[in-house]
Amino acid sequence: MGWAIALHGGAGDIPLSLPSDRRQPREETLRRCLQIGVQALKSQKPPLDVVELVVRELENCPHFNAGRGSVLTTKGTVEMEASIMDSTKRCGAVSGLTTVVNPISLARLVMEKTPHIYLAFDGAETFAREQGVETIDSSYFITPQNIERLQQAKEANRVQIDYTQPLPQATEQETENSNGDSQIGTVGCVAVDNHGNLASATSTGGLVNKMVGRIGDTPVIGAGTYANHLCAISATGKGEAIIRSTVARDVAALMEFKGLSLEEAAASVVESVPKGNVGLIAVSASGEVAMPFNTTGMFRACATEDGYSEISIWSSKHD
Ligand code: ASP
Repeated sequence: MGWAIALHGGAGDIPLSLPSDRRQPREETLRRCLQIGVQALKSQKPPLDVVELVVRELENCPHFNAGRGSVLTTKGTVEMEASIMDSTKRCGAVSGLTTVVNPISLARLVMEKTPHIYLAFDGAETFAREQGVETIDSSYFITPQNIERLQQAKEANRVQIDYTQPLPQATEQETENSNGDSQIGTVGCVAVDNHGNLASATSTGGLVNKMVGRIGDTPVIGAGTYANHLCAISATGKGEAIIRSTVARDVAALMEFKGLSLEEAAASVVESVPKGNVGLIAVSASGEVAMPFNTTGMFRACATEDGYSEISIWSSKHD
């Protein structure tokens, strides 16, 4: 048994030709956040604190689709959502946030300070003010890149995780040669300490050009986020597909009821979701890590107590 941590910055159609000026800042952020998480685990911080800390850092980075850098609704607004859970099954979730700088911390406050699990829209914003969390004018979250992404999504009449996703008639070659902007993604972190305590956290701006009021998988416990005594999971991809397949809970259920290993359970769930729709990160109570995806790529990083560490985007044959 040893500590382990994994984080993701979103799965999707990430072109293999991703320009380095778009790739490097994201890899740098993943590396920095991984170090922050590893240091926290080494200094015996509880996994719940570790995943919150790492996701806050990712939310503050404009290169990912969470907090600052959240993608825009069809009306050009932000509606952020997040959830957090630990191995004792305590959990909290928020949706429809427009001014909260770190949605993941508000999700944790819902878990710790209310009799509920999930607060959304006006109620969640009011709760944020009562709790005194940092808020800011919504314009802080809206980057020029996301205004452009929304414009392109509208022109293509699509709701999407990535506007470079090929149209149905595009060939694989066209996908690989796509030179548009990169996928930006939802963020998540899972961690386990060397006593087997686990936690998971996920945060997002949702999908580009989503309807106002749309809620995805990220704040839905059992879909985008789950943790129990066996494992912790954070998913990314098309929220509607992830909710239909109860992705995060299914990984835990396959371990619990079928006795599968973390790797087998995670791979089996990802295979069961239509291709191009999902990626996940997971850790088990004994310190294993799994990071499967059925999209072109997934920004991801992990480290374990035995010295293994990885930062990748595509499958190993492309990284
Ligand atoms: N799962 C998120 C959603 O559908 C998007 C993502 O993972 O990039 O809201």
